[in-house]
Amino acid sequence: MEHQSDVPSVETTKSGLIALGGNLGQSEELLQDAIRSLNSHPRLSVQQCSSFYSTVPIGSNAGDRYINAACVFSTTLPPQGVLEACQAVENQLGRTREIHWGPRTVDLDLITYAGQIISTAVLKVPHPACWYRRFVLDPVCEIATEVVHPQFQLTFGELRNRILQRPLSISYATLEKTRQERIQERIRAHFSSGQVQVLNGNISATESAVIQLLTGELPPDHLTPGSLYESTLPRPFEDAILDVLRAALDEPEVNH
Ligand code: ATP
Ligand code: CA
Ligand code: CA
Repeated sequence: MEHQSDVPSVETTKSGLIALGGNLGQSEELLQDAIRSLNSHPRLSVQQCSSFYSTVPIGSNAGDRYINAACVFSTTLPPQGVLEACQAVENQLGRTREIHWGPRTVDLDLITYAGQIISTAVLKVPHPACWYRRFVLDPVCEIATEVVHPQFQLTFGELRNRILQRPLSISYATLEKTRQERIQERIRAHFSSGQVQVLNGNISATESAVIQLLTGELPPDHLTPGSLYESTLPRPFEDAILDVLRAALDEPEVNH
């Protein structure tokens, strides 16, 4: 009689992209440590790494410049397992620096996994912010420019090219007038007209905008590159849009 447990399970190897960042401590060494540590996982191997890039800090906890990088991995782990491996490395490197509650020494984000689209409470793949962050797109494009973003059906090279447009055009056709005005005021205070232009709130403008601010719930089947749904952001547009635009406008510098 055959025993099921005698049948060897077939593990397929999948590949994907991880983005790395850090701005506390010796960031370059910490990112090197993170890559080594990830690679030492018995079921994950790092295939290729980008250069290290120096980027401006984004967000309210302004600190030193960040170092960012990306790597291609192959793995027999499921996506959740890759996330856990990333978090284990973050904890390991954060703990040795004994930093409590502060910005993390190393942040590892799972950007893509085998062309899959995943949306659970703890894991969203492709990473929802990867398409507008130059600090993700530049390192990713150095090593995986032809990889296709499975929701947008555009390569990472194409996603990066969209964001290179100057002025970067944004629209917010579905927002009520007072909110449009509030956001516009903030954009004008922080960015020049050569950096960002706001298109008139009509449908054709919305379609040609690089970034579209949209209210309401995210329609899962109709995601287009550039759509930024308020329901998916941790903060309202009034606060989040400046960080989004900074991340889209900042040109990472390769660290030699
Ligand atoms: P951002 O995700 O905007 O870059 P962050 O990296 O600072 O922000 P964290 O505090 O590191 O955010 O992560 C918060 C949570 O995000 C994690 O606990 C994790 O469960 C969840 N998460 C969802 N999707 C991903 C993903 N693709 N990669 C990493 N974490 C993810
Ligand atoms: Ca992150
Ligand atoms: Ca993270």
